[in-house]
Amino acid sequence: MSFAAFPALARATLAQDPATILDHFRARLRAEDRTFEDRETELFVDTGIGFITVRAEGDLVALLLAAADGNKAFILRQAVVLHLDQLAPGLAERLVWDGPLPEFNRPPTFRLARVAAVSHPVPGFARLRLVGDLACMGVGGMHMRVLIPPDGRLPVWPGLDAAGRTVWPLGEDKLHDPVYTVRNIASDGSWLEIDVFLHGQGRTCHWAPAALGAEGGLMGPGGGGFPETERLFMFGDETALPAMARILEQAPAQMQGRVVIEIARPDLRQALHHPQGVVVDWVLRGEDAPLADLAEAAMAGLGVEDYFWFAAEKAAAGRVRQELRRRAVLPRNQCYVAAYWEA
Ligand SMILES: Cc1cc2nc3c(=O)[nH]c(=O)nc-3n(C[C@H](O)[C@H](O)[C@H](O)COP(=O)(O)OP(=O)(O)OC[C@H]3O[C@@H](n4cnc5c(N)ncnc54)[C@H](O)[C@@H]3O)c2cc1C
Repeated sequence: MSFAAFPALARATLAQDPATILDHFRARLRAEDRTFEDRETELFVDTGIGFITVRAEGDLVALLLAAADGNKAFILRQAVVLHLDQLAPGLAERLVWDGPLPEFNRPPTFRLARVAAVSHPVPGFARLRLVGDLACMGVGGMHMRVLIPPDGRLPVWPGLDAAGRTVWPLGEDKLHDPVYTVRNIASDGSWLEIDVFLHGQGRTCHWAPAALGAEGGLMGPGGGGFPETERLFMFGDETALPAMARILEQAPAQMQGRVVIEIARPDLRQALHHPQGVVVDWVLRGEDAPLADLAEAAMAGLGVEDYFWFAAEKAAAGRVRQELRRRAVLPRNQCYVAAYWEA
């Protein structure tokens, strides 16, 4: 991504000791494990959806946001505000903005959708087709939050406060907000589909099969992407299947690699379209070696050009992340390790 390619520039200044603000951003970026350029009186962060510069200008701090469009610039602004909130309440309210930031009534990442169809094309999942103005969910990330209102109440959707923070409904109006993968999306963005794994215990598992006609909120997209590599090593459980299936479908035909999918029962196997050179193995939880063990064993064979992908339960993901860091074979932009659910 190149800085010059991003026209949506917004600038804010803050009358606050620059050294304190720079130190604070430095510490937060390190804690979040982000890569950034530290030029002493200026920090430069490539966030993946745009750029944030934090710069000392005399007694002031200047914050510059550059993104491809107003929506993304708005998301960057929210990130800046939340970072400042960590330092001192009220600080973000003192930012003086100057630049083409659009005004929104709702978070620009929010979309209202209606469940237009529920089907079961793959075993163990309910596929929901959601209709709405959803083109934004196909760009810049693979996952999104599905906002489900409490039973029997009129939905209250997230709003915004004056500083640009998302304000979530609380108490009786609190939304259930699990993360799902965009499995398929129409080229005109008029619908998208998610595959909900019916694991039996969760609120979404009960909601999804009977959701025909229901209104839901979507918030996103965010996270994930299509690994650009010649050799891919990918490990996941049922919750990661929609993401793995989409990645494999879109992979170049010459891709090589190995995919291991851990499932609870043999009948959860589904047909996957994948490049011929990618070997797909299905393993059974509780019978075969645990997924994290298989992933760790595969690390021994990783080459510097490979991509490593792991998504499953939180404890397993934590273990795999630690081992991957200890081995330090791959740069961070060639690894994806994520907790998709918590036991
Ligand atoms: C980036 C990302 C992408 C994801 N994509 C998908 C997707 O496309 N499809 C999909 O089905 N899931 C996906 N998930 C996982 C999904 O968000 C979680 O499983 C979530 O907990 C489901 O919400 P729920 O309402 O069913 O359960 P919750 O209300 O969150 O939890 C209720 C109970 O169910 C348990 N539980 C949650 N998930 C599981 C599980 N898989 N197996 C057994 N018990 C479980 C919890 O431990 C808890 O006790 C994704 C998660 C992430 C972070």
